[in-house]
Amino acid sequence: MDACTAVGREIDKVLTKFTSYSDHASTTIASLRSNIESLKVEIDQVGSGDITEAQAVILSQALGRVKEAVTRLSTEHRDLHSSVSKVGKAIDKNFTADFGCISNDSVFSGKKHHLINEVICQHFFREGLLDIAEEHIKETNLSLQEESREPFFELNRILAALKERNLAPALQWAEENRDKLISQRSTLEFKLHRLAYINLLSQGPSRVPEAIDYARHNFTPFVFQHEKVIQSLMGCLLYVKGGLINSPYADLLSCDQWTEICDVFTRDACALLGLSVDSSLAVCVNAGCTALPILLNIKQVMQQRQVPNIWNTKEELPIEIDLGPSSRYHSIFACPILRQQSTENNPPMRLICGHVISRDALNKLTTSAKLKCPYCPVEQNPQDAIQISF
Ligand SMILES: [Zn+2]
Repeated sequence: MDACTAVGREIDKVLTKFTSYSDHASTTIASLRSNIESLKVEIDQVGSGDITEAQAVILSQALGRVKEAVTRLSTEHRDLHSSVSKVGKAIDKNFTADFGCISNDSVFSGKKHHLINEVICQHFFREGLLDIAEEHIKETNLSLQEESREPFFELNRILAALKERNLAPALQWAEENRDKLISQRSTLEFKLHRLAYINLLSQGPSRVPEAIDYARHNFTPFVFQHEKVIQSLMGCLLYVKGGLINSPYADLLSCDQWTEICDVFTRDACALLGLSVDSSLAVCVNAGCTALPILLNIKQVMQQRQVPNIWNTKEELPIEIDLGPSSRYHSIFACPILRQQSTENNPPMRLICGHVISRDALNKLTTSAKLKCPYCPVEQNPQDAIQISF
């Protein structure tokens, strides 16, 4: 960010200079022009005869002034070049062009190359760019199972319909997958019905009977879960005549409702199909962009210590990067005693006092079949500890 600000500052300087130059140039040129115009009028008044000596002097003086002004303007214009080239220098100084030392070509060699192509392909499918994905498959000789494409086709079809404010395909999908959606506590189906109901109401009082009928048929299964919302949806019936837009329920008509339903559908459908909400490629690019500045900062240290590449043997980056809560996929437990991350062989164990340590730590701390909690310290039987999973 600092780099951008530094370059921005140079650009601002150039822009200010340009503006002042252009203002100055146009006023100078305008005054010279009016000067010459008035001279022309004066000469014309003399008629066909020769101009007087005095007029000749005035004319040559005017010409001198024009020449002088042109020279001055071109000198000023030349000065602008140095300011422009300063921007180039600022870019070179503030941005790194050499990423050689922080990339590791071998990471993506061999079989992994195939993985990259697969991830790129899935990204295209996700974005609904089906023909590009097909071309990519052809060019890279990817053998992608038909089943792995199918869910994306359906998702894209339903999302495209939702964007055109057509709820039917999404409603049908939600109905077909109702049990699974309920088990993952999804509110998708109710939200779709709610939008369909509002849609009817927004079309005026003539559709009210139809809307009431719709509500009666479709809201019943959701009464217990969404009682308050359904109450307010019924309350808004009173205002249909005067127009919902002028009522306290105006927010029901907001475009945000449609944006929200697209997000809810994507999130819930992805969860149901076992897909991540964001494409893997987008997550990787995001992680790379976050890591890049930090890696560039420690580049010098790595070069000094002659670190051969930034990936260690476990193919992990030498630094930790935080992509925010949405990108935390697995909860991690680090044993506070051994300061190690828990693994399948060394899982976290909950002691009867509520403190959690790793199994290795528990074994190490156990003396003659007794364990003293390192924190409280309650004495207990190590057999009473329960394995926990996140
Ligand atoms: Zn304890």
